[in-house]
Amino acid sequence: MNNLTTQNETSLIDPFGRRIEYVRLSVTDKCNLRCFYCMPKGFKDFEQPEHWLTHDEIERVIKAFTELGVARVRLTGGEPLVRKNISQLSKRLTALPGLKDLSLSTNAVLLDKHASDLHDAGVSRINVSLDSLNPERFKEITGGELQPVLDGLIAAKQAGFSPIKINMVAMKGINDDEFEDMVEFCIKHDFTLRFIETMPMGATREDATDHYLDLQTVKQQLSQRYELVPGVMPGGGPARYVQIKNTNLRIGFITPISQHFCETCNRVRLSVDGTLYLCLGQDDKVELRPLLRDGISDDELKTTLIKAIGLKPEKHEFKDKPDQVIRLMSMTGG
Ligand code: SAM
Ligand code: SF4
Repeated sequence: MNNLTTQNETSLIDPFGRRIEYVRLSVTDKCNLRCFYCMPKGFKDFEQPEHWLTHDEIERVIKAFTELGVARVRLTGGEPLVRKNISQLSKRLTALPGLKDLSLSTNAVLLDKHASDLHDAGVSRINVSLDSLNPERFKEITGGELQPVLDGLIAAKQAGFSPIKINMVAMKGINDDEFEDMVEFCIKHDFTLRFIETMPMGATREDATDHYLDLQTVKQQLSQRYELVPGVMPGGGPARYVQIKNTNLRIGFITPISQHFCETCNRVRLSVDGTLYLCLGQDDKVELRPLLRDGISDDELKTTLIKAIGLKPEKHEFKDKPDQVIRLMSMTGG
């Protein structure tokens, strides 16, 4: 056994003592929707296909991560279901001995078609972005149709995914009259609901800032109608949960702006072009693609990952420096 494999489990500790055990893997920066707070209208500056990591390259990097103690990976994007053969890639990743949990974030437009194959491939959990249940408003926010998303959710349920989490970006003047409708929808379908604060990123940062809503306001609004009790959610990530009394509904609040959770950050992000981003809100990164294509060995790759974790910054500065992040969420892997 060489030095690297004996380091295993303890290798990915960053300079602030945080253990990195979770990778968000962007398999494409393209998307079949255009949520206004995520991708600017007419945006076309996508990564060239020859720069996309291949399935072999992705598997290699994730394998190296798992051998260094990473146990969980989330497929994201852009929209991960627009990447060809996503179920095959999922199967390859779930076959890696160290990977305990492969999950997916999706807008669900194509989920109807993929849910069963993804479930068979071992994807264990699904998060679906859904900001409105009103078809016209959904179209205004995303540029797309609501019905395929609802069909996708039903297909995911039928395929056996549980829990299914709905991620709703809470936006002042956009969907702040719909929180209770979303609560009722999630109670009815046995989904978990999570509210998210908008983050200023790239060319959409002004929109995100204009419609920013502190989630304390949402919580207060809900507590006028429902009795909220403390809730727990295994593997709930940075969300803080409450439960509505006498229901199964758990509601999570993801508050990157009003109460950031950087001190417990356990993740890094790998973008479709093989850039490893150490923080969503900072530019610290390591380009893995040239190394992979120049014939780096497995041990050198692991050494590179260990060194990269040493560059992880302490925290994002979305609140103090909202103009700082020039990348879009869809580029980094949200
Ligand atoms: N396309 C998939 C989806 O929408 O779930 C996965 C990628 S998307 C970038 C991941 C998450 O990022 C979504 O829940 C989306 O709402 C969120 N998101 C995108 N831009 C954001 C922003 N500026 N502020 C807060 N959340 C954002
Ligand atoms: Fe696409 Fe997801 Fe961004 Fe919406 S939030 S534009 S669905 S990547």
